[in-house]
Amino acid sequence: MRKRTWWLAGLLAVAVLAVGTHMMSKSRCFQLVGDVVCRVETDRRIVALSFDDGPTPEGTDAVLATLEEYGVTATFFLIGNRLERFPGQAERLTAAGHEIGNHSYSHQRNLFRSRDFYRSEVRDTDALLREAGIVTDLFRPPFGKRLIGLPLEVDNAGYRTIMWDVEERPEDFDDPEEFAADIVSRVEPGSIILMHPMYRHNDVARAALPLVLQGLAARGYEIVTVGELLAHGESAASQ
Ligand SMILES: [Zn+2]
Repeated sequence: MRKRTWWLAGLLAVAVLAVGTHMMSKSRCFQLVGDVVCRVETDRRIVALSFDDGPTPEGTDAVLATLEEYGVTATFFLIGNRLERFPGQAERLTAAGHEIGNHSYSHQRNLFRSRDFYRSEVRDTDALLREAGIVTDLFRPPFGKRLIGLPLEVDNAGYRTIMWDVEERPEDFDDPEEFAADIVSRVEPGSIILMHPMYRHNDVARAALPLVLQGLAARGYEIVTVGELLAHGESAASQ
């Protein structure tokens, strides 16, 4: 009986540890190593709009045209192997005044990998961005997942981890108006919004983008880049 109790307690401890590790790996506002930001404290009605993945030529076409129409600048987290496959797209984004961040090289799940894996995921994309004339200190983990190895390398490479507090919910809303209204309803001053309009299957996100921009404007929000939002948060905190 006693042996069985110990065995059960051990099993429970392993389960708690596994759940805890899983929760921590996807926590938006907390990580064990290095700097992480999921939103900024402010009373001003400003928000940052961020786009993950790509760049793809058709995604860049779609998003650039919409942002230009509304006079908005945003932050794009780009994947290294897409930068190699579609040269010139990152330059198009920066030429239009947008901000670029690093979103890993291969966009693989990245828990329990080697130090060399993390190093090349961060630094290979860093090198590709520099070749395109882009220097950034913004890193977003693929799937938002990380524990210790990736944040350590992100920190060593001079980056900070940028998460988000408002994410699109395509699994719940396939109508662009509802999709956009859901995002806009959850935004607060200092929010970082995450959308995925780069790939063809993201047509709802693409169709919703102008509606998100209209909805934010109607609620009095100004859209800035992540870098501008961070700078505002730091100056607000030091006052
Ligand atoms: Zn991604």
